This record gives sequence, structure tokens and C-alpha cells, in this order.
Amino acid sequence: RAKSQRRAGHFYFSRSMGVEIRERVSMMHALRSGFQRGELFLAYQPQVDLATDRAFGAEALLRWRTEDGRLIGPDRFIPIAEYSGLIVDIGEWVLRQALAELVRLRAAGYRTLTMSVNVSQVQFRHPQFVEMLRRALAQTGAPPEYVELEITESMAMEEPALLVEKLAQVKRTGVSIAIDDFGTGFSSLSHLQRLQVDRLKIDRTFVTEITGSARGSSIAEMVIQLGRNLGLSVIAEGVEDERQAHILRSLGCPLAQGFLYARPMSPEDLQAWLDKRKLIEAA
Ligand code: C2E
Ligand code: MG
Ligand code: MG
Ligand code: MG
Repeated sequence: RAKSQRRAGHFYFSRSMGVEIRERVSMMHALRSGFQRGELFLAYQPQVDLATDRAFGAEALLRWRTEDGRLIGPDRFIPIAEYSGLIVDIGEWVLRQALAELVRLRAAGYRTLTMSVNVSQVQFRHPQFVEMLRRALAQTGAPPEYVELEITESMAMEEPALLVEKLAQVKRTGVSIAIDDFGTGFSSLSHLQRLQVDRLKIDRTFVTEITGSARGSSIAEMVIQLGRNLGLSVIAEGVEDERQAHILRSLGCPLAQGFLYARPMSPEDLQAWLDKRKLIEAA
């Protein structure tokens, strides 16, 4: 939109842009106070083994229920949280909340369940990130070998040297790393090899395309093959129907997550859902 408003090298600050900025600023204030008032909460989506349909883990997904009862998704407010720097505090809260839930579930008998937590690049780049992670692990008592952090592929491509070192530090805490939305960025293979990551998450777009043309499955297929060659685990996200699951299985994809199995849900519903399926160790 901004592009069409640029004429002859000049940039016209239009009225609609003013509205947009004002909306963003007011959302930022609402988010800050909403966060302090406890309006944020986590929903948990199970992750399953494709061959057996048994659950092995869950991903924590952030939600915001505003004062007037509206539910706002993370795609709308995470960018604002990042832009304002609020994501550092929110991200720490998310991590602690998810780790505490993991500890609670383990105490309830789900001993092999893994917990995946999304980490924003702003949060990850913060100089105190590793220290914060260590503290959160120690204070909640969550076992790091059952914790996975998800970083996005776009982040995995920036500042290679810094990233390699930071990932190494993160890995030393004992947690594992997944690259989220994989296939949407432009990771070079040599770069990927240098990063100490454990799992690739095939982006939902490529799972959706899988049942289309013959070429539709080529990216998913490539990621699965890449995972195999590099010795990394692979999970398909956004699996919505049996046909997709069937094709993924035939391509050798070990793990999946999506509405076909379960939507993100409350801790109570997750526990009830897990009770219906036996837990299995992740591949
Ligand atoms: P993501 O990490 O790639 O999470 C997957 C998103 O796909 C989630 O959306 C999930 O609800 C949705 N999803 C799962 N299965 C299906 C399916 O079968 N079909 C469809 N159509 N969608 C499915 P959600 O919860 O709205 O989160 C959107 C994004 O917001 C996440 O993408 C992640 O990048 C970000 N996010 C969520 N929680 C956090 C958080 O705590 N911290 C940070 N930094 N980012 C977060
Ligand atoms: Mg994720
Ligand atoms: Mg994703
Ligand atoms: Mg995504």
C-alpha cells in the first residue's frame, strides 16, 4: 500500500496511514496493560506420531482475550509486541507458563511429553536470552530434554556467525531447537548444517499444496529428504485431512500437527485429549 503512495520520490503520509499508526499505538497500549492484567493465556496443540497417531508433544500458542471479550490471535499482536519491545517480557512469561504446564503434566503422569515454545527473533537476540532461559528452566524445574524452542527460518538465515554461537549456547542448556515455517525462507544447505538444530517444521503452506498437483508435494518431499540426510527430525504442521496425512506418511514424514488431530486447547482439554491416546516418545 505504501508503494502506491510514493510518487516521484516523495513520500506522502496519507490519512489512512495515520489511522493505521494510531491503531497500532493504541493496540500497543492495550497489549501492555492487558498483559499486566493477565489477559494473555496459552493454548496447547498436540503433536503426533504419523505412523501410530499417538501423541508425543504439544506446542504452546499464545492467545489474547481482551477486556471486552474479543479473542485476538498472535499473528496480529506479536508484531506489535516485537515492535514495542514488549515481546521480551511476554516471551519470558510464555516460556515460564509453558514450562510450568509441562511440569504439571509430568506430575500427572505424562512423563514423556515434550513442550514446544515459539521464540521471537527480538526475544532471541536479546543479550540476556540464554540467562533468562536457564533461570526459567531452573525455577520451574522443567527438564530441558523435554523442551523445544521454535525459531523461524527467516531468523535462522540472519547473522550466521552470531546465530551459530547463540544456538550453541542455547543447546548447552539441554533444550532442543526446531526451525518453524521451514520452506518459506531461503536457508542454504551449508548454513543449515552449521546450525545445531534438531527438527524442521514443514510450513503449513506446503502441507496444503500436497494434495494438489504432482509438483505440489515437491517441497514437503524435499524437506523430509533434507531432514533424513542431515539426521534431523521432521514434523508437518497444519495437517487438516486424512489425504494429507496419508501422503505425508508415504513420503516418510514421521511427525505431524494440525486440526486433523486437534486444535489448540486449554490445559484441561489437552489432558483429557492425551488420556484418549497413549503417549509415545518422539522420533
Ligand atoms: P506457528 O508457530 O507456525 O504456529 C502454527 C499456527 O498454525 C498456529 O496459529 C496454529 O493454531 C495454526 N494451526 C495449527 N494447525 C492448523 C491446521 O491444521 N490448519 C490451520 N489453518 N492452522 C493450523 P496461531 O496460534 O494463530 O499462531 C500463529 C503464529 O503466531 C505462530 O505460528 C507463531 O509464529 C506465532 N506465535 C504463537 N504463539 C507465540 C508465542 O508464544 N511467541 C511467539 N514469539 N510467537 C508465537
Ligand atoms: Mg510454532
Ligand atoms: Mg509454523
Ligand atoms: Mg506459522
